[in-house]
Amino acid sequence: MQRLFSLVPALAAGCLTLCAAESKPTLCVGHYHSEADAVKQLERIAATHSTLSEWKARAGKVRKQILTGANLVPLPRRTPLKPVIRKGKKYDGYSAQPTAFEARPGFYVYGTLYRPLGRKGPFPAVLCPHGHARGPKGGRYREDQQHRCATLARMGAVVFSYDMIGFGDSLHLGWEHTHNQALTLQTWSSIRALDFVESLRYVNKNRIAVTGCSGGGTQTFLLTALDQRVAVSVPVVMVSAHFFGGCHCESGMPIHKTPELETNNAEIAALAAPRPMKLISVGTDWTKNTATVEYPFARDIYSYYGKQSNVEYSHFEKEKHGYDYSKRQAMYPFLVKHIGLDSKGILDPKTGKFDESKTVMETVEQMQVFNEKRPQPAHALKPGSKVAIR
Ligand SMILES: [Zn+2]
Repeated sequence: MQRLFSLVPALAAGCLTLCAAESKPTLCVGHYHSEADAVKQLERIAATHSTLSEWKARAGKVRKQILTGANLVPLPRRTPLKPVIRKGKKYDGYSAQPTAFEARPGFYVYGTLYRPLGRKGPFPAVLCPHGHARGPKGGRYREDQQHRCATLARMGAVVFSYDMIGFGDSLHLGWEHTHNQALTLQTWSSIRALDFVESLRYVNKNRIAVTGCSGGGTQTFLLTALDQRVAVSVPVVMVSAHFFGGCHCESGMPIHKTPELETNNAEIAALAAPRPMKLISVGTDWTKNTATVEYPFARDIYSYYGKQSNVEYSHFEKEKHGYDYSKRQAMYPFLVKHIGLDSKGILDPKTGKFDESKTVMETVEQMQVFNEKRPQPAHALKPGSKVAIR
């Protein structure tokens, strides 16, 4: 009898596993729950830990769920990046070079490598993913993104600005953002973008930051949660406890909710602790409650480490969703402080503003790594291909 009883829980557990495997995964998409339900969920999450070691155990489970849900367990093998770095152009205080590498064999990440001119390295680095805004020109071609990257480079950062799948060069070459591996590929591409900047001999590996807005904010907090090489993060207009991202590249795979664990983007962002993080929010989108909900939640996590001062926020009540001037002005000083950028000659001490007037807006053709004149290598995957992850 003893033996039989001991088998029953095992059988029950087996059934649960089977049932869970057979049922459709739960996706938390967009406004999956209300603002009030989000607050209750954060209370349930907060109740799962009361010490640093308990939080670390919780954080490990959340990380594991993100990786499992994104089909990144086990992590893909790190195949040769085979970077292609074009000559590009030199401007006042910085250069911009069309650059690509292979995140998987034949699957390219396209971007622009911005470098400081007239300064001595090694330099800190900043990864700049972008959001879903299509116009004008979209993605890394947008003026706000070019301003952000050029200004960071002029302050001494090596910056890599890179396309989402189906944006920028990726779109031009025929890939569509509806690709059903978008979440997997973009997360892996961000991890490989860290490998890429680390491979540059003039980069200081201990001072790597990431910042992006909207869908680029999602990429920012996912990468920061998953990879400890990110030293500083600035997710912009995206961290929300009640909104999960509306695109399949943000919430189209079961990273938020399983029978074992529920989480949300406020907790995922807090996995940055104790590394410096700045939340930038506005009153007109899903980040409107940052001051009262997401920031205090993160601060409580940082307090386990005695590092509350490492998490900050800047809130713009009347502004719209995006990474426009005022939000960039809120990000620059945080990166000056935490990765050692040099604002001399760029920060006006009288106005407190960082000068962006030296940015030269490049054309799409200037920014393209590959096009009709400079074709991709023959082994590049055909647009829309299923990408072999393992
Ligand atoms: Zn997307």
